[in-house]
Amino acid sequence: MRPIELTPLFASLQSLTGIGPRLIVLMRKCVNLPAGITEPRVLDLLWHLPTGVVDRRAEPAIAEAVPGSIATLKVRILKHFPPPRGNNRAPYKVRVEDDSGKLDLVFFHAERKFIERQLPVGEERYVSGRVERYSDKLQMSHPDYIVAPDARDDLPMLEPVYPLTAGLSGKIVQKAARQAVERVHSVPEWQEPAWVSSREWPTFDAALRRLHKPTDAGDVSTGGAPWQRLAYDELLAGQLALALVRQNFKTRPGRIIRGDGSVRARLADALPFSLTNAQREAMREIEADMSAPRRMLRLLQGDVGSGKTVVALLAMAIAVEAGAQAALMAPTEVLARQHLETIAPLAEKAGLRLGLLTGREKGRARRDVLERLAAGEIDIIIGTHALFQPDVVFRDLAFAVIDEQHRFGVHQRLSLQSKGGSQGTDVLVMTATPIPRTLVMTHYGDLDVSRLSEKPPGRKPIVTKKLPTESMEKLVERLRTQLAEGAQVYWVCPLIESSDVSELAAAEERHAYLSQLFGKENVGLLHGGMQDKAKDAAMEAFAANQLKILVATTVIEVGVNVPNANIMVIEHAERFGLAQLHQLRGRVGRGSRESFCMLLYKAPLGETARQRLEMMEDTEDGFLIAEKDLELRGGGEVLGARQSGTPGFRVAEVPGFEALLSAARDDARLVLAADPMLASPRGQALRTLLYIFECDEAVRLFRAA
Ligand code: ADP
Ligand code: MG
Repeated sequence: MRPIELTPLFASLQSLTGIGPRLIVLMRKCVNLPAGITEPRVLDLLWHLPTGVVDRRAEPAIAEAVPGSIATLKVRILKHFPPPRGNNRAPYKVRVEDDSGKLDLVFFHAERKFIERQLPVGEERYVSGRVERYSDKLQMSHPDYIVAPDARDDLPMLEPVYPLTAGLSGKIVQKAARQAVERVHSVPEWQEPAWVSSREWPTFDAALRRLHKPTDAGDVSTGGAPWQRLAYDELLAGQLALALVRQNFKTRPGRIIRGDGSVRARLADALPFSLTNAQREAMREIEADMSAPRRMLRLLQGDVGSGKTVVALLAMAIAVEAGAQAALMAPTEVLARQHLETIAPLAEKAGLRLGLLTGREKGRARRDVLERLAAGEIDIIIGTHALFQPDVVFRDLAFAVIDEQHRFGVHQRLSLQSKGGSQGTDVLVMTATPIPRTLVMTHYGDLDVSRLSEKPPGRKPIVTKKLPTESMEKLVERLRTQLAEGAQVYWVCPLIESSDVSELAAAEERHAYLSQLFGKENVGLLHGGMQDKAKDAAMEAFAANQLKILVATTVIEVGVNVPNANIMVIEHAERFGLAQLHQLRGRVGRGSRESFCMLLYKAPLGETARQRLEMMEDTEDGFLIAEKDLELRGGGEVLGARQSGTPGFRVAEVPGFEALLSAARDDARLVLAADPMLASPRGQALRTLLYIFECDEAVRLFRAA
């Protein structure tokens, strides 16, 4: 269970003084919430770190105040000058002085009572704000702070500046954050003392205090010691969690799965090509994993079109040869069906019995599949997350392939595992997102990786060009020629966001436009809001070459295979990330025709967007593109966190990220090697760390063990 000391951090923000039902709504907009959390908690505010500080430490005499700078002045109130009656535009002025000179405090649209109360004539006050020169006088308009001498401590000399949202003032966030910091009681040190002191890092609670109540301007900086320390904490928590999941895999016995090669031989005969070297190598690695007496957890990375499906099928064949069952799980229904269609003709020749289970199989059809699965009359089941449902029972599931993994979480991975009975299931995770090595570590931990870096022979390059939206008519003319020669076109429009529908080229609008030009019967539409049946119909018509143009939102992003389609048009390409553009482009270039990818953008193009589009023009190498993506976006977002629902980092995106990450990885490994149950004093402290960063999943493994 979560240590009791942490309970106040997981309480709602409403438990802080001053935060009620109205402010909580604004806070929700302002802070980052992890998936599944709807009401911001104290912890979420602690991770809402300031972006800078306002330095109020200059306390000059009035005569020495530098116009244009922020200063804190100790003044006596001399006289009030309210605006003349009926003149709303004139400011309310209050003349103040010290021994060196005079200054006017200036208020526009002021509430008279308020000013009289705040600045009583004859008394002393501290005022803090920007000093200005107005004609020959010094003034300060709307001081940020006005406090009586005995309340001087309420005036923050270094004031953190927070990201805000409309209606939420910096002072409110500041006040709440100060309270939140008070809830962090000193926690046990979970870092190596030598490491922390060599870097001159503060303790965890001191780091949070220095960020939210800075005493030095350098405290609030991603390169500063407090921030670096917290970044390292987050990375270590992540690495430790992944290492724990991994350890759990490795230490529990797995089964030995060996085949006689018979099914594989029949499949090889049925395939119209021979395997590439990369595919052969991946098969060797997978075979070795499966035949070892431990659980397999391997990531198969390969660009779109690199031939992962064949590898998956051959690997599943090993399980069938061993007399067991295999499952292939896809992230969407469309993709599951597509896998079935690809695999079915080969399976038939090899004598494999297939089944399909998605959310759409219902009633009798579903019961029928479940019965055959339980009776062992299905060798390979292909499906979606419907395979996770508790009533899905296998006779003997030995091997599972999870396609496009980044859409599933660790939790689901573990639950598919449990379907394999006490001996567990070997798991192969496939991803078409080329991931830089450092990020494989971050998101998958220390897992075994096979890479299909070589594409099947005979692929022609995809000619990629960016062009401004204004050139759309020219593009349309060129399409006319291409279509006459038998081309097929994907036309992608970004998703409609309710906030700015009018600004976006909505798929429906584009569909109408292209229908007008090329004929209604030739242009189809595919978007997420459509009924399943209508989606399938559109996809099938396009695959059968009845439709020449398919206008789609990004629902076609994952896996769809229509070899005859050779042109990809992406509207508002500047809105897409590199990984997504690369995925989309991968839909074409699969057949014998010359292929094109047209990136339509709305000018003017920002610097990052321009670099992205130029990268697309320059290369098709997914691993290179992923490295560039990492460079442009930073660690947390490369996997498209927002689309996939996996949380990004809260504090770890700092300078030196990669070095910190690899240190954290080594650290996690060493810790677990010496203390696999996290039972030592440091181990216990690390459990607290895991809870703070909400890696509960990993901690739960101790109870399961
Ligand atoms: P991925 O799933 O990695 O995107 P696929 O498995 O769908 O790629 O393969 C893309 C295409 O390449 C398919 O049409 C497949 O039949 C073909 N293919 C796979 N391996 C080879 C190979 N070794 N030689 C020729 N074509 C291949
Ligand atoms: Mg595929």
